[in-house]
Amino acid sequence: MKELLKKLTEAFGPSGEENKIREVILDEIKDYAEEVRVDALGNIIARKKGPGEKLMLAAHMDQIGLIVTNIDDKGFLRFSNIGGILPLTLFGERVVFENGTIGVIGIEKMDDLKDIRDIKLNKMYIDIGARDKEEAKKKVRIGDKAVFYEGFDVVGDFVTSKALDDRAGCAVLIKLLQEVKSPKYDTYFVFTVQEEVGVRGAKTSAYGIDPDLAIAVDVTMTGDTPEAGKMAVELGKGPAVKIMDRSVICHPKIKEMLIESAEKNNIPYQLEVLEMGGTDTGAIHLTREGVPSGCLSIPTRYIHTPSEMASMSDIENAVKLLIHVLEK
Ligand SMILES: [Zn+2]
Repeated sequence: MKELLKKLTEAFGPSGEENKIREVILDEIKDYAEEVRVDALGNIIARKKGPGEKLMLAAHMDQIGLIVTNIDDKGFLRFSNIGGILPLTLFGERVVFENGTIGVIGIEKMDDLKDIRDIKLNKMYIDIGARDKEEAKKKVRIGDKAVFYEGFDVVGDFVTSKALDDRAGCAVLIKLLQEVKSPKYDTYFVFTVQEEVGVRGAKTSAYGIDPDLAIAVDVTMTGDTPEAGKMAVELGKGPAVKIMDRSVICHPKIKEMLIESAEKNNIPYQLEVLEMGGTDTGAIHLTREGVPSGCLSIPTRYIHTPSEMASMSDIENAVKLLIHVLEK
């Protein structure tokens, strides 16, 4: 599982540019799914047939990133965000473009800046070591996207990497595809695109599949770090059954299905109320005439920073819990 997660987090794939991560996932699932297709927006839709209702499982394969908006005469790049980027996480950060070009993020001198939290992206730039505009343009074009550089490491009981959001969820779906032999539902495993810019791939794929039920797997925040906001989710205490976030109030049927699976099989779990943010569930449950939907979350610290942190045991327990949901 660690190997898989390392491979997934290291694959390039900011929203709208998911080619490389899609190739990695397709390679992992090709021997296990009965049908696999890539839809018009780039979502991977893999199916394992079963006798029951249509169940859609979703994890987003895109990651947050930066996009080049301008290249100045000296070869420095100005940029905007793809998804939720916290400017204060960027100073001195290394980023990498799809073609392997590395950049370092710098900040303009700002005498009037009182608090680093007030820093804006338009006061920052990416330095790719170019002498001038012409040299920079040989490596990077306007609209090119970059992602955080950080690799995958084990730290104590936990793992850290960029893009655990939501490659952790992708890893869970891949493991399910590999391990569930005959699901009781007609199961669609969907690796969605463009979640970070507004759950766009989930919207179109759910419309196409027209599921009877849906469960997303994504990361959620925790309340277990110094002076953290009050939130009853901790690393290592099990996957979290989402009750609510800003985008959805999870359907009681799915919520109870997840809780029951955990309790019957002695799998640790937590209950999650997230006061900000949303996930693919938000789009899926509003599809067509409505889809009873829920979400199983991987507790994660430092979400949307270059070094997100999660517990392998939570990820593995999410797989176990969902195997019991899927199997007869
Ligand atoms: Zn996510």
